[in-house]
Amino acid sequence: MPKLAANLSQLGTETAFEVLARAGKLAAAGKDIINLGIGQPDFKTPPHIVEAAIKAMRDGHHGYTPANGIPALREAVAADIAKYRKVEIDPDCVMIMPGGKPTMFFAIIMFGEPGAEIIYPNPGFPIYESMIRYSGATPVPMRLLEENGFAFSADEVLAQITPRTRLMILNSPANPTGGVVPKEEFDKLVAGLEKWPDVVILADEIYARILYDGREHVTLLSYPEIRDRVILLDGWSKTYAMTGWRLGYSVWPKDLFYYAEKLAVNNHSCVNAPTQYAGIAALQGPQDAVDEMCKAFDNRRRVIVRALNQIPGFRCVEPGGAFYAFPNIEGTGMTAKELQNKMLNEAGVATVAGTSFGAMGEGFIRFSYAASVQDIERACDKLRAMLA
Ligand code: PLP
Repeated sequence: MPKLAANLSQLGTETAFEVLARAGKLAAAGKDIINLGIGQPDFKTPPHIVEAAIKAMRDGHHGYTPANGIPALREAVAADIAKYRKVEIDPDCVMIMPGGKPTMFFAIIMFGEPGAEIIYPNPGFPIYESMIRYSGATPVPMRLLEENGFAFSADEVLAQITPRTRLMILNSPANPTGGVVPKEEFDKLVAGLEKWPDVVILADEIYARILYDGREHVTLLSYPEIRDRVILLDGWSKTYAMTGWRLGYSVWPKDLFYYAEKLAVNNHSCVNAPTQYAGIAALQGPQDAVDEMCKAFDNRRRVIVRALNQIPGFRCVEPGGAFYAFPNIEGTGMTAKELQNKMLNEAGVATVAGTSFGAMGEGFIRFSYAASVQDIERACDKLRAMLA
C-alpha cells in the first residue's frame, strides 16, 4: 500500500449506499427484499424536465458552462428563492453545484482545520461529521432528542459555541429524523448568534419543500441579522426526484462566493450542461408533480408511523418533514446495528441503523418511506412477525 495522506483515515461514509449494495446483492440472489434504506424519491423525474435535458443535448449544449452555472439557471434559482422563501437574493451569489453534497464539502473545508470547532447535528447526515473529521477540525455534536421532536435546543447549542467555533451546520427538515425545528427555536438561536459574529452558518435546507400538516419552511436566509454569514444548501435531488442527475445549488455570502467558485474550478469545472437546462425546466415549469409527491409522502408517513408503533419494542414520533421515520427501538433489546442486520437478513427489510448518523443515533433505526404503501405495510408486517 502506498503511503496515504494521514487525514484520509478520518474520512467516514454514508452507510445507506452500503445497505443499498447489500440489499441489491440479496435481491439478485433471489431474496424478497423491501428497500426502506435509501433516501431517494421512488418517483420518476417529471417528463418535462427530462425533455428539457434531451432538447439541450440536441441543441448542442455540449460544452463547458461557467463554473458557477449558466446565468439563466442562477436567475431561476434566485426567482425560486423569492417565490418559496420570500427572500430576495442576488443571482451572482448562486453557485450551481453537482448535487447537494458538494456544498457541504466546500463549506466544511473552507472553515475546517486543526484547532477549529464545527457544530453539527447528531444524529444527522453522516457526511457532516465525516468531512469535519477529514478537515482536521473538532466535531461538536448538537444533540437532537426524540422528546423535542428531534429539534435542537437553541440554549444548548448557544452554550456549545466557543471562540474556536467557525461553522455551525443546521438541517431542517432533517435527515435521518424527519424533525422540523420550530421557528421560535430558530429565532432564539439567531438572537444568541449576535454575540458570535464570526460563526458562519451552513443551512442545509434540501428538504424545504417536503413538509407536512401545513408547516411553513423557515429559511435561515430570512434573518437579516445573520444574512451575511449564511450559506444555503439546496438542490433538485429530493424535490424533483433527480438524485441521479447530480444537480444542486448553494447561495453564498458575497465574500465567500469567490472561494466557492475557486473550489469549483479546482474540483469539477462546472455541472454538465444538459442537466442545468433540466434544472431551469424544473424550477420554471409546473409544480404539480412536486405537490403530488408530497401528498403521497404524507399518506405514506401516516401509514408507516402507525405500522411502526405496532411493532413490539418500537416507538415512533411523527416526523414533520422529509421522508424518513426514526423510531426508537430500545424496547427490542438490540443495538441499532444488530437490529438493522437482523431485519435485512431475516425479514428482507433494508433500513439504516441510527448509529450510521452519529453516536447519538444509537437506539434508533431510519426508515425511508419513499416506497409504496404496499411495500411499507408488507415490510412492517414482516417485522411485526419477526419480533413477535
Ligand atoms: N443534505 C441532506 C440532509 C441529505 O439528506 C442529502 C441526501 O440524502 C443531501 C444533503 C445530499 O443531496 P444530494 O444527493 O443532492 O447530494
